Amino acid sequence: MAIIVQKYGGTSVGSVERIEHVAEKVTSWRERGYDVVVVVSAMSGETNRLIELARQIDASPPPRELDVLLSTGEQVTIALLSMALEKRGCPARSYTGAQVQILTDSAHNKARIRDIDDERIHRDLEQGRVVVVAGFQGVDEEGNITTLGRGGSDTTAVALAAALKAEECQIYTDVDGVYTTDPRVVPEARRLERITFEEMLELASLGSKVLQIRSVEFAGKYNVPLRVLSSFEEGEGTLITYEVEGMEQAVISGIAFNRDEAKLTVLGVPDQPGVASAILGPIADANIEVDMIIQNVAEDSTTDFTFTVHRNDYDKAMVLLRNFAREVGAKEVTGDNRIAKISLVGVGMRSHAGIAATMFRALAEEGINIQMISTSEIKISVVVDEKYLELGVRALHEAFALDKDPKQETA
Ligand code: ADP
Ligand code: ASP
Ligand code: MG
Repeated sequence: MAIIVQKYGGTSVGSVERIEHVAEKVTSWRERGYDVVVVVSAMSGETNRLIELARQIDASPPPRELDVLLSTGEQVTIALLSMALEKRGCPARSYTGAQVQILTDSAHNKARIRDIDDERIHRDLEQGRVVVVAGFQGVDEEGNITTLGRGGSDTTAVALAAALKAEECQIYTDVDGVYTTDPRVVPEARRLERITFEEMLELASLGSKVLQIRSVEFAGKYNVPLRVLSSFEEGEGTLITYEVEGMEQAVISGIAFNRDEAKLTVLGVPDQPGVASAILGPIADANIEVDMIIQNVAEDSTTDFTFTVHRNDYDKAMVLLRNFAREVGAKEVTGDNRIAKISLVGVGMRSHAGIAATMFRALAEEGINIQMISTSEIKISVVVDEKYLELGVRALHEAFALDKDPKQETA
């Protein structure tokens, strides 16, 4: 029988009524003749609540113990869902990550899946059971509980779908698919019928939280057909696939944004070989990831150097940069942690000129100043003042007419 893996996010299992509703959906897929493996998140708000409890004891709790705590959220929902299934006469078994051996590395709070022992799952499926697996968690070689980072249940589902060679991995959530941008920010945003793995990966990396980045990486690598759909309404959702010949392709597929970054600048550093490495070396040694980098053209013998980091790393990076500035006698260090990054993504950009010009014009017309720019083959990102984030996203959505279906435009 064909296997289908379904993942239900926090809102979809946010109350007992909703868990009963999920049980109804799962049962109906069973009746359609599928073997079903279900992955669930913790009830909405639960993971945040647990993190807050830990923080009341220690602002940075031991990562191992945090994982023991966080994994409990998903243990609640697997049990409740299995009970709801059994009540409906649908045999079910729940398993924690450790029980089905979702083997990960030992990087607590951001572990990566290495291997899955699918034998037990197959055995249950053969006996006609629905298998309910806790998302977001695994176990390392020493038997320690690990978690996969926020949004990690998506990755659990895709990894299971890959291991079980499922026909499809369905991600059920509170929106009915992947939109041209977050529909909470732009109500006119349009659902996409399809999007390529490449574009979805960019959108996820640039801040669209609808799918965890690693789940998209995994799906692309193992060619898992991945679909995002609503738990609350019927519909086709959005299919994430490889680019296929003749696939209708908009120039821009979507707009992503994030407020998680901060900007640091060191002014008046000597313009000579080794400067960039001297600035970024200590930053890298402190395990701080750098995103955008700009070095100005020198007018005299000095230059300005700007880069962005995650907002949580801002204070740490500032201390390191001040040390550097003192050592080399740079003029000044400045910074801003109230910035936002807005990015346009689309594989169609490869063959279209003028996208950047249209983007910059649309922002200029709203009086939004661009602080930094970075481009790659299928994306353009700009950094702007955080207070212009929503305005900027809406202006770009309109400038590129993303609310209109390109297929109908050309028809
Ligand atoms: P779940 O709890 O089901 O995992 P998430 O909150 O992680 O749900 O992801 C769904 C949310 O992602 C939506 O409610 C929506 O606000 C947000 N989102 C951001 N960007 C997009 C996008 N491009 N398309 C759809 N949803 C998006
Ligand atoms: N419960 C975890 C979180 O809130 C994992 C998930 O929902 O995917 O991040
Ligand atoms: Mg999620």
